[in-house]
Amino acid sequence: MTDWLAAVDQVEPLDGVRLDAGLVGELQRRFSRPGGAAAGRIDFYTPTFKAYATSEIAGCGKSAWPAVSVTGGECKLQCDHCKARLLEPMIPARRPEDLWRVANEQVAAGARGMLLTGGSNHRDEVEYGPYYPVIRRIKDAFPAFRIAIHTALADLDHARRMEDSGIDAAMMDVIGSQDTITQVYHLRRGVDDFERTLEYLVSTRLKVVPHIVLGLHYGRFLGEWNALEMIRRHPPAALVLVVVMPFYAPAARPFVTPDSAQVGRFFMDARQALPGIPLLLGCARPPGRAKAEIDSYAVMAGLNGIAHPADGMVELAARLGREATVSPACCSMAVGNEVMALDADRPQAKAEIRPVIERESAGAGLAGIKVVAAASRHR
Ligand code: SF4
Repeated sequence: MTDWLAAVDQVEPLDGVRLDAGLVGELQRRFSRPGGAAAGRIDFYTPTFKAYATSEIAGCGKSAWPAVSVTGGECKLQCDHCKARLLEPMIPARRPEDLWRVANEQVAAGARGMLLTGGSNHRDEVEYGPYYPVIRRIKDAFPAFRIAIHTALADLDHARRMEDSGIDAAMMDVIGSQDTITQVYHLRRGVDDFERTLEYLVSTRLKVVPHIVLGLHYGRFLGEWNALEMIRRHPPAALVLVVVMPFYAPAARPFVTPDSAQVGRFFMDARQALPGIPLLLGCARPPGRAKAEIDSYAVMAGLNGIAHPADGMVELAARLGREATVSPACCSMAVGNEVMALDADRPQAKAEIRPVIERESAGAGLAGIKVVAAASRHR
């Protein structure tokens, strides 16, 4: 059987990454099968795929999945990792009639869907109440236009109104630590409120895709495992894992970069805890070497999908015996595009893996490696 650390050494773009040998060994023991085939297929969502794309796929660009904020750049919570800055680049729709206009403009411009979000009130609720009728109107007028909503905390009435309005996917950050809720989010709500929101959402027909932000407590792990337990109690359609990106943290409350191996261990635990649920690594994670390390662990831990993978991941997956597909991902949204990518009707064209690997490995050759052409199986 291929030794997984040795396989990493063979992947040229992974020169310089430092993986935890003990963790890699454990991942190999848990997730490789006799004969070397690791845990099933892995989907890579990558804008670089566009280099190989058909003209149909090439249309999947920056404006395909715009993010729209119902509060513009305003948010009452001012969480320490964000300070509402995530909202700034989004399209504002501060009144229901603005949302109708924005949706029509986006449909006319060729958008395939949108992420609907907004700043929170002091209770971590986004006040969508006046918007539900117009969301229904948008879905009735443009049924193929997908709408994903960032729910924040919601009661059962709101969950049902989201469902009735025709929203396609509901996303929320699940936080499992009271200290994180109090200190990072400045919020007087309990862990139970997050679990109840998840419970209400999964009781509807909405496609629920919670996120866990790893390292949310100033770069350290605190409530992540509890969040995993909460999700296990209320199984969603898929789970997205992201790693905190505290670009906007105040100097007085700095975040450390989460340790890559700890992130990798969490991937292993999440895979064990939720064997039947698609686990995706979302776009948000630290750049550079940390990203290469985190992505390598994700491939080894049997995650089902990686958005915007680091160079070398397709080759690593091939070397570990994982069947891989490469699909286009739309690169503009800070959150949510991996959720949209889950849609069954996403563009079906797949890259031949070989040219991607050959490019990644700069012509190093693939002697002896089994390469699966994605289009040939499963779909
Ligand atoms: S993470 Fe959400 S709730 Fe917190 S400041 Fe940013 S937009 Fe507001």
